[in-house]
Amino acid sequence: MSGKVYLVGAGPGDYKLLTLKALDCIKEAEVIVYDRLANPQYLELARPDAELIYVGKASSNHTMTQDEINEVLAVKAKEGKVVTRLKGGDPYVFGRGGEEGEYLLERNIAFEVVPGITSAIGGLCYAGIPITHRDYTPSFHVVTGHLKDETNDTINWNALAAMNGTIVFLMGLSNLHKICTNLMTEGMNPNTPAAVINWATRPNQKVATGTLVTLEEEVKKAGLTSPSLIVVGEVVRLREKLSFFENRPLFGQNIMVTRSRTQSSDLKAKLIELGANVFEVPTIEIQPRQGEEIDAKLQTLKDYSYIVFGSQNAVSLFFERLYALGKDARSLGEAKVVAVGSATAKCLATYGIRSDFMPERFTQESIAELLEDKLTKEDKVLIAQGNLARDVLYTKINEICEVETLLLYDTVLNESSKVRLKQLLNSERVDRITFTSSSTAKNLMALLDEEDKEKVKAIKCISIGEITSKAMRDLGLTVYKEANPFTIEGLINCLCE
Ligand code: SAH
Repeated sequence: MSGKVYLVGAGPGDYKLLTLKALDCIKEAEVIVYDRLANPQYLELARPDAELIYVGKASSNHTMTQDEINEVLAVKAKEGKVVTRLKGGDPYVFGRGGEEGEYLLERNIAFEVVPGITSAIGGLCYAGIPITHRDYTPSFHVVTGHLKDETNDTINWNALAAMNGTIVFLMGLSNLHKICTNLMTEGMNPNTPAAVINWATRPNQKVATGTLVTLEEEVKKAGLTSPSLIVVGEVVRLREKLSFFENRPLFGQNIMVTRSRTQSSDLKAKLIELGANVFEVPTIEIQPRQGEEIDAKLQTLKDYSYIVFGSQNAVSLFFERLYALGKDARSLGEAKVVAVGSATAKCLATYGIRSDFMPERFTQESIAELLEDKLTKEDKVLIAQGNLARDVLYTKINEICEVETLLLYDTVLNESSKVRLKQLLNSERVDRITFTSSSTAKNLMALLDEEDKEKVKAIKCISIGEITSKAMRDLGLTVYKEANPFTIEGLINCLCE
């Protein structure tokens, strides 16, 4: 039995520049054979049992030869597997996809090709350079910059120079000098605008512009390396007007997000949308608690006149367990429900529950203040929360009426983040760190050795609110900015200011 190979274009790098068909191929593959330019984040979408094979290609440092890659594809398909060969950009644009296809066909192995957005077009677009424009150019030409030898007779430089089209060179950075010289020698105006785009469409995209004469110097100044596109032509002038990707408010900012894995995706997605390069380091992990004590309280919810939810995690774990016990929101009966923050209230709403009160400020103190007027000694309050929640609310309510806590989870250190943290701090690439609770700050510091703690103290730290800020200061961190209001939106506004 023979499997099938999908030659799939993974696009130029921006995570969302992937076709729906490519997405299917990634999700369904039993084997994924990928190289350096395919965004590695796609691999997270693969089946948990998929075999992932890296075949390299950092230009001079080939991890596997083309023959070896062909062989891997054939062998895996012959085993009856569905194989996705994931390539940067489009598989047929200097991707040697044609050779892979021929090799498979010769061996009677079924294959299909899924085109991708090539960097030659998509990469220019994200640099603000339209590959064609009626006022500037009648054609475009995508050319290999991988020049075979000194004389290199395979490229017709004379024709290229004469055609007035936009010329895009791939794999050409190490030959930049030769490329510019050849074009000028063949009569191209030395003042023709030109650009080099490094890591196009990625959060770390960098662009250098100049003319055929100055480009090499500009690229050196900017320190651009591979992978890079070289573009020559009048359309480069439009970059100043049409640049949108680099104009987003957080473009070029390297932001570390410290939050538990389950909670950070919202913040992360928004920051990426605004252009930031986000490093997600889960410092804490939520470990749900289980046991008779929890179940007993969930069975007798009608005993409480107020139920307070201390966090989103508390809400979801509360309802998950309630459902597991064969019950639902009706168990809350007539109890008044209080959420300690807007995100917690939103989460409650997904379970069909509306929070009865909304404090002005999202702290335990303000909720205590709000409840003080309402509670009588006949009331009975249940606070659903995690082990690290402060006891301000409990203490205040306890002065008025009976109160119990329902501890639904423990927040523990995420030891697996240690290595990544060290790498990040040593790479000196972090411009900002966001803290969304006191525990993320405490836990981040707890994961670090003394040397790295000092590094964090030198980075601009953003706090979600006053309690978090206090915890940060106690740990020796400087609060560069504090969100207002104390929400994720507030935090994002703070970063954009
Ligand atoms: N099939 C790919 C090209 C493969 S050849 C495509 O269609 O885009 C590899 C070359 O592509 C690199 O040397 C570089 O010149 C270019 N390239 C690919 N992705 C790039 C990116 N994100 N930024 C800059 N150059 C890129």
